Amino acid sequence: MKAFDEIDAIASSLQALVKVEPSSYPLISNVNMEELISAAKQELERRGIDVGGVSKEAIVRGEAEGAGGLLSLVIRRALYKRVKGSLPPDAPAFPCPVCGLYPIAGVMKRVKGAIFSMDVVELHCLCGYSTTVEQFHCPVCGNKDKQAFDLYVAGDITYRACIKCGHVIGIAKEEVEGEKLPIAIAYSISRHGWISRSA
Ligand SMILES: [Zn+2]
Ligand SMILES: [Zn+2]
Repeated sequence: MKAFDEIDAIASSLQALVKVEPSSYPLISNVNMEELISAAKQELERRGIDVGGVSKEAIVRGEAEGAGGLLSLVIRRALYKRVKGSLPPDAPAFPCPVCGLYPIAGVMKRVKGAIFSMDVVELHCLCGYSTTVEQFHCPVCGNKDKQAFDLYVAGDITYRACIKCGHVIGIAKEEVEGEKLPIAIAYSISRHGWISRSA
């Protein structure tokens, strides 16, 4: 995915601009957003992508669409790159401590316990942040009842919709695309009209 490399290149060039004060979460609510938005816009325009008008609030909430969505993605990844490895271990996992979204993508992992092996899901946020949860665990409402999820299979991805709150997560069997996975899944979920507005 060439577009992903472009997005990441822009995010890398922006990360030095991020002034973050880790006083409360999500960090996206505590950064110099106006400055980041205008720098990200410039970078996108240099590549021929005209973002047009998009509100800071829409970006913080992750609701910007079209080219605005691209801007939101670039800024989220820049934030994550800036704070990667320095988040305190007690930072809350949901919503994302970096960018405030709920994860929509995961990778199934098998971990060895003392007696049994166990399947867990490594959840990935669009910004790059990841955290591991039990196999059936809705990050939005906390539902852990295996029976309370609807499943749809499309290609190599299993989509799990939480019956209690409607949140959808696409889960891959193995890490085929690494950090690109949530972006591919976000695209697929929006294409299928499975967008979750629950938060
Ligand atoms: Zn995030
Ligand atoms: Zn739920």
